[in-house]
Amino acid sequence: MKITLSAIKADIGGVGGHTRPSNALLKRVEEFVMAEKGKLLIDCYVGFIGDDIHILMSHTHGVGNARVHQLAWDAFIEGTKVAKAQGLYGAGQDLLKDSFSGNVKGMGPGVAEMEFEERANEALVVFAADKTEPGAFNLPFYKMFVDSLSNTGIIINPDLAEGVVFNVMDVLTGEVAELRLWEDKPELEAALMYPARYVVESIYSKKGEPIVSASTDRLHNIAGTYVGKDDPIAIVRTQRAFPATEEACSAFSNPHFVAGNTRGSHHLPLMPVRLNTAASLNYSIPIVSAAVFSMHDGVLTEPFDGFGTPDWDYIRSIAVERALAMRAQGFIHPATLVPEELEYNKGYEARMKKLRERFKAKAAREEEKEQVARTNPDH
Ligand SMILES: [Mg+2]
Repeated sequence: MKITLSAIKADIGGVGGHTRPSNALLKRVEEFVMAEKGKLLIDCYVGFIGDDIHILMSHTHGVGNARVHQLAWDAFIEGTKVAKAQGLYGAGQDLLKDSFSGNVKGMGPGVAEMEFEERANEALVVFAADKTEPGAFNLPFYKMFVDSLSNTGIIINPDLAEGVVFNVMDVLTGEVAELRLWEDKPELEAALMYPARYVVESIYSKKGEPIVSASTDRLHNIAGTYVGKDDPIAIVRTQRAFPATEEACSAFSNPHFVAGNTRGSHHLPLMPVRLNTAASLNYSIPIVSAAVFSMHDGVLTEPFDGFGTPDWDYIRSIAVERALAMRAQGFIHPATLVPEELEYNKGYEARMKKLRERFKAKAAREEEKEQVARTNPDH
């Protein structure tokens, strides 16, 4: 049976800042989408991470289906009404267009979608992150599919050993490069090296089966100005010819530094958290959750919390230690991002404009001093 999975996410408001959606807001979005269960959709699941709500939908209408996208868009519009009524911070902030035009891609919400022939024991993980950007998944995907030191399955599993096909997007131009393992490995590495510019859009097996689909939208490319970090979501199919579920999740067990954090302007480690975790108010450490599902005939089980077992508490401690170490150097780069990646770039530009004037003033002062020296040679 051919099934489509669509994971669509948006930040439409948080309690007292960029923390988490309110219960009322979540309830409204969930009710709205659930009404289509057994009609437009086979099944659906609504969850959140930080201030982002994600809707996972299973159906048979294919990728980019206008009705499915409209349902998610309308659910976010309904949720925004609640967010506005409650005075939530950033109400409707990711809904960048006034009216729906057939596909939520390019309208603000992030989308990860794939259509595939369902396996008898379909297994999958939905990774959702907050306070970071799509490139945050570059390293974990590399560990899952390229690095056998991280994933022994790449040696042991004949399908993974054959190599996979990465589709990498240049988020500035929107162009996508198809890079095949193992022949294109160095070029793939050159791309993944700069997560702010090149991000993994999808990964396929050599036989053409979709394994990974990830959101790639960069909001400032849509809005023309910075309106928030582009918190990513990804669907990863696991088991059998694909990475084992634990091989996929353990790619997050050594919290790596990502761009994001408070004001989207810092580098901090990506901390794996439990499902439906609010953003930390400890300077908004970037966070990622893993919702693990089995699926049959498009019907999803309840999610198993991939980062919920006790060992992940230790990993969280490591992330917090690294976060505090980086925060200890305050605003000095590389604790902060390069100027063009700063969320509050306009403010930085304003500071630099004033600073440049000072540099000029200093030069003028030197000139003045020289003039004084010329007219009063005794000084
Ligand atoms: Mg967010």
